[in-house]
Order: sequence, then structure tokens, then C-alpha cells
Amino acid sequence: MSIQILSDQLVSQIAAGEVVERPASVVKELLENALDAGAANVHVTVNGGGRKLIRVSDDGSGIPADEVRLAFTRHATSKLRTAEDLTAIRTLGFRGEALASIASVSRVSMTTRHRSEATGTTIRIEGGALVSHQPAGAPAGTIISVENLFYNTPARLKFLKKETTEKRHVVTLMMRYAMAYPQVRFVLEQDGREAFRSNGSGQLIDVLAHVLGLADVKEMLPVELATAASESQPAVSVSGFTSLPGLTRSDRSHIALFVNGRWIQDANLTYAVVQAYQGLLKPGRYPISVLMIGMSPEDVDVNVHPTKAEVRFRNANAVFAAVQRGVRRVLADAQSPHLRESALERSAGESYWEPSHRDGLFNLGANSPTGTESASRRVPRHDPAYDPTAIPEGPEGPAKPRTLPVLRVVGQVGAMYVVTEGPAGMYLIDQYGAHQRVLYEEFMEAYALGDGITRQGLAAPQTVDLSVSEAESMEQHFDLLASLGFEVEPFGPTTVALRAVPVMLQKADPEAVLRGMAGIIGSRAERGALEDRLITYICGCAAYKAGQVLSLDDMQSLVRRLERCQSPQTSPEGATTIIHMSGDQLAREFRRRV
Ligand code: ADP
Ligand code: MG
Repeated sequence: MSIQILSDQLVSQIAAGEVVERPASVVKELLENALDAGAANVHVTVNGGGRKLIRVSDDGSGIPADEVRLAFTRHATSKLRTAEDLTAIRTLGFRGEALASIASVSRVSMTTRHRSEATGTTIRIEGGALVSHQPAGAPAGTIISVENLFYNTPARLKFLKKETTEKRHVVTLMMRYAMAYPQVRFVLEQDGREAFRSNGSGQLIDVLAHVLGLADVKEMLPVELATAASESQPAVSVSGFTSLPGLTRSDRSHIALFVNGRWIQDANLTYAVVQAYQGLLKPGRYPISVLMIGMSPEDVDVNVHPTKAEVRFRNANAVFAAVQRGVRRVLADAQSPHLRESALERSAGESYWEPSHRDGLFNLGANSPTGTESASRRVPRHDPAYDPTAIPEGPEGPAKPRTLPVLRVVGQVGAMYVVTEGPAGMYLIDQYGAHQRVLYEEFMEAYALGDGITRQGLAAPQTVDLSVSEAESMEQHFDLLASLGFEVEPFGPTTVALRAVPVMLQKADPEAVLRGMAGIIGSRAERGALEDRLITYICGCAAYKAGQVLSLDDMQSLVRRLERCQSPQTSPEGATTIIHMSGDQLAREFRRRV
């Protein structure tokens, strides 16, 4: 073929692939337009998981008659004029791509009237081509209907997930916008049924009551923190709600972060929240958090991702620290007995007491702060070697905060323990337990991010014979095994074939691992607990064994990774991983005068 410039329509369809991935992405773009237009009421109708119809009506500004056609042209926007505007985006949209993209892969009709005009407009566009455009009587605001999504892009249609999956995505999305815009009344109707509603009271907690239910919302603590700007740091505010340590979920999906009204995905900030709960949660359990992070639009770049779900901060460390401090402070104020315990553990040596008189929004029952209790709240003294908020900066932004001091590897004893030296003496590390801990947290992190566990295909599929009951219960959990990185399928009535394992198990005996897992699955634990036990088990299979001689490199890598684990002191099975002997202790043992 000779080189030719693509038609505008084809360009739009190609561009649409980035913005309009699925029905929920259409809903997202239309919601953002309604919010940018200053709507107080937004009504969304979705039929057939969004394939049949997506309709969004708003009572926002509306579009002036002479701009309606233009709104559907690529790179046509009312929100951006100059490159300078791009450095301080204050609207959800700004690229002027959504309407053109959506219209190129569906049949769209829009009726809109601008507030300041007497007559409205109706326009219809199919597959990017204008079908009709005429004046129409209409209330101020905009109604846009998107029908037969992807009707002209069969490839995309084929990749659509099940209707129920799409429905779930739309509900989640609506909830996020409702949380970010509590002053707006949202209603979502799916196939004639109301699927979600918010009351527009302006109070985030009212939205959360709809999202989480009343029982859980009572376990949420208000977060409120504002840092002042300095020469090196931007002003950052963090507000919202975070769960008491007793209210948890099995993954991080209930940690919702927003920056200047925009929901974002940020593994580091999610980690900051989890880290704030250090020592308060069982392994594999995560808090519920809804946090609104505010900063000057100049301090955040939202133009780095097609769907704008990822942003870049000018000073990521400051944001990380603000989120972590905001959450940690409210947890400390909640006077959880666990927290006091772990604060005590961490503050070996002297510490000072800092009274606090912050009241929660909710009645916290048994955990409610009392005068005497708050006077005895203990805050660990600042020690840079242990300060989990001291975030070393790597080339990719903030690394994980350290939870152990820097340890120097001295050597290995009994092919079982790693001897290390730190600022406060000697640390003896159990290589199996420590490695299992490291692998466990790394696995959990990858698992929670939902990116999938990296697999290693087996050279030849391995068949494993199981008992009838083992085979039955394993079959029920093929999806769970797949999400953990195991490709298993039925091979005979009681035989399964294993085709791939998580990459960390590439040196393990696949049959033995699978048998071990069959045993655990057979114990019929509930799904959350089962997941955790399986991951603990897999990490145990992959961990260095007692008796395994380690190279200096192996030991150093182990120790570096352990230093940044959330719970380095215990293995995921609960065994002690580190024995610390201080210089004083050693001196006493040797009857040396100190
Ligand atoms: P962007 O939102 O990036 O500007 P869009 O393609 O989504 O690009 O929309 C193009 C333009 O159409 C917007 O800049 C806005 O002026 C106008 N517009 C779209 N939807 C609405 C709406 N619901 N209410 C008012 N104006 C709208
Ligand atoms: Mg838009």
C-alpha cells in the first residue's frame, strides 16, 4: 500500500480505542462533561450493560447552539486555550476528544440548551457522520444518548466483557464520582432499576452511607490534614474517611484516592495508606479509605495517561507523607488498643507522650477516646533510622519506607541464619521465614494491584492425580488458582494438568506444590482466608530452605527487601524472623563493662 493520510473518521476511531475502551469509559467521559458543565443533578441510564444505551442528562450550562457541531469535532474543547493552561488544569476534561471518539463508534444524539439562550439544539451523529442538526425546545442543560456502542468496530465489540461485568464497572464509577462530588445528586438506572443514588447533600459521609452501608460507615474515621506550603514543599490537604482497624477487606480495592476531584490510581499512595495501618492489620487485610487529596493544580500533572487515571506529582514525597500522616494521626486518635501496643513495641527506649483532644465524627463505642486515655497516648520519639515516613527517593519516585534500620550482612551460620549488623547491635535473621515474608508481601502487592502474577509455563504440562474430593474442591477454585498464577485444567475425572506456575516457583517441584495446595483447598476455608493461606504456602515453597547455602548477593538482596516489608519481624506463618541483640546485651553476656 502507498502512504496515505488516514481519514478523520478513521483517526477518530483509532483514537477512540484509547479513550473509549468499554461502556464504562463512555459513562465516565459523559459524567465528566456534565460535572465540568457545573451540573447539580446528573441522571444516568444504562441498558444492556451499556451496549444498547447509555444516556446522561444534566442540568449544567448546556452548549451554545453555534458550538454544538464543533463539540463533536476532535480536539475541540472549551476548557483549554494555551499550553500554559495545560500546566494548571481545573476541569476533568481538556483534550476535546471524548465526544468525537464516542460519536465515531456509536449512534449519538444530543439535545442541549445553553443557559443564556432561548432555544436548544438536537443533533444526531452515527459512526462519526452527521445525520441531523436542528433547533429544539429543551430545558437548560444537556441530554446525550449513546446507542449501539461499537456497532461499527466488530473487533472491539468482541472484546467486551459480560454484561454483568460492565454493569459492575458502571456502578463503581458512579460511586467514585458521587464521592468526589458530594454536592451533586447522582442517580443511576440500569435496565429500568435504580442501581445507585446519592443525595447531593454535600457531605461525603452521606455518599459513603450509600456506598458502604450504614453499619460499615459507623466504623469509618474522619481524616483531616493540611500541610502548609514551604519553599521545598507544596501545600497538600487530605480529607475523607478511613476505617477503624477492625473493618477490613481482603484487597486494596476499597482504598479510593482522589486528587482535586479526580479519582486516581497510585500504587505509592495506596501503599501510604496501608503503611499507616502498620501493625494494626492481619497480613492480607486492607483498610477501607476514601481520601480527597487537594493541592494547587500547578503541583500535579494530569496529562500523563489516556484516561487520566494516573497523575504525576511535582513533589510525590510530600503527597505520600501527607496521606500517611493524615491516616496515621486519626488512627492514633482513635485510641485503638492495638495501636498503643504496637506504638509501644516500636518506641523502644524513651518516648514522649502527647495528649490529643480530637473528637471523631462517630460514636466509637468501646474505642472512644476518654480524657485519661488520651493523656497517655504514646508517640514514638523521632529516630531517622526507624522513621517510616522518611522516604528515600529513587529514580521512580519514592521507594517504600523502611521498617528496619539499614543492616549490613556479615555472613551465614548453619546454612540457616543470616547474621547482620545494624546501628543498634546484631540482628540474626531466619532465612526461611524472612524470605517467605519478603515473597509474601511482594506477591500480595502484585496481586492487589490486579496486574496478575507473572507466570512461568512448564516445559511439559504436569498431570497430578488427586482424590475425588480434592479434585472436586480444586475444580471449584480454578479461577482463584489462575489469579494466583497457576494454569490448571481438568485432565481426567480426578486428574488435573498443570501448565504454568507463578514465576517465583520455577525451581520448585510443581507436583508437590499442587498437592500441598489441594490439601489447603480441601480444608474448605472461606475464600479470603483460603487465598491468604495459599499465598503463604506458595511463598513458603519458594523461600530459601533451612540448609540452603546462600551467596553474599542472595543475602544482601534478602535483607534489602526485608528492610522495606510492612511486617519484617514475623513470617506470614507467624514465626519470629529476626532476633536482635543490642550492643548492651552483648556486653552483658560477655561481662564487659558498659
Ligand atoms: P473535553 O471535555 O475534553 O473538552 P469533550 O469532547 O468531552 O472534550 O467535549 C467537548 C466540548 O463539548 C467541551 O469542551 C464542552 O464545551 C462541550 N460539552 C460536552 N458535554 C457537555 C455538557 N454535558 N454540558 C456542557 N458542555 C458540554
Ligand atoms: Mg470531556
